[in-house]
Amino acid sequence: MSKPRIHILALGGTIATRPDATGAMQMGLGADDLVAAVPRLGALADIAAETVSRVGSHSLSFDQIHALAAKIRSLDVDGVVVTQGTDTLEETGFLLDLLIDLDIPVIVTAAMRNPALTSPDGPGNLVAAVRVACDPWVRRHARALGVMAVMLDEVHAVADVLKAHPTRLDAFVSPQTGPLAALVEDRVVPMSLPVRDAIVAARPRLASLSAEAQPVALLWMSFDEPGRVIEALIAAPDHLGYRGVVLGAMGGGHLPERVTETAKRLAGVLPTVVSPRAGGGPMLRNTYGGASSEIALREAGLIWGGRLHPLKARVLLETCLRAGLDRAAIGDIFDSWG
Ligand code: GLU
Repeated sequence: MSKPRIHILALGGTIATRPDATGAMQMGLGADDLVAAVPRLGALADIAAETVSRVGSHSLSFDQIHALAAKIRSLDVDGVVVTQGTDTLEETGFLLDLLIDLDIPVIVTAAMRNPALTSPDGPGNLVAAVRVACDPWVRRHARALGVMAVMLDEVHAVADVLKAHPTRLDAFVSPQTGPLAALVEDRVVPMSLPVRDAIVAARPRLASLSAEAQPVALLWMSFDEPGRVIEALIAAPDHLGYRGVVLGAMGGGHLPERVTETAKRLAGVLPTVVSPRAGGGPMLRNTYGGASSEIALREAGLIWGGRLHPLKARVLLETCLRAGLDRAAIGDIFDSWG
């Protein structure tokens, strides 16, 4: 039987670093280098390797991920593995998930430990990602699984995965749902299928996207925040070029009382999404009263971000704005996330 054709696309990140003359790690390795470092990949799959960029994921742009999605859509292969930095994987992966609707596995992987350290995890994560891409259960359910992240022998839905630690090997977790599958011995052990109704419902409205970036500001609310950045955003010509705002709100969807009136005015001038700074999880809709409560904020026109982490809410809002959606349509889309 012929082996699955797996296309590896390398963007950069720690997995692709090598030491310079001073010993500092620099992005330098390409896809061929990553593949050459793990000879057993050839036994698993018919591998093609392509270097897309050599940049840290902290410097990737929406436009680069749109171009990557177009490239993935154009490939005639059985599965795709993207290697990149870990820093923004939870965002770029989610954007890919919004842009791609294929019946082949699309997997993002990375490394926490660079190749100069003892036990770098890049080679193991790359093998794991290719094994997942070749796995019969994964291939059978590829569309239902959506874009996946494979890290440290776990398979996560990119819509749920978060980078929860800056340096540890086990930095990636899906706190709301847990992983979709685990790798053990030579098996990929399925554990769950993700609930993707919100993405499926949003897709037709996100089908046609402008090439023009739609900057979205992410403002984290903390206690006693005076709201002066929000005031500046409202007052500035063209709102500083921002087209939308995500507010990382407290608890079940609350803002400091002293910011509330400003945030309500902001919602009048830019689509403003309230998203839980606690890291995701459905927010309240109808529990607390008072001027800064979820009931008052929703009545004032702030868009409720549902269970999406603020980083993912920002990605979804940028995509909605590229689709030219108005406030009501954006509200509908976010509403499906709980
Ligand atoms: N900041 C770099 C990046 O995200 C390195 C971090 C990493 O890959 O883990 O690409």
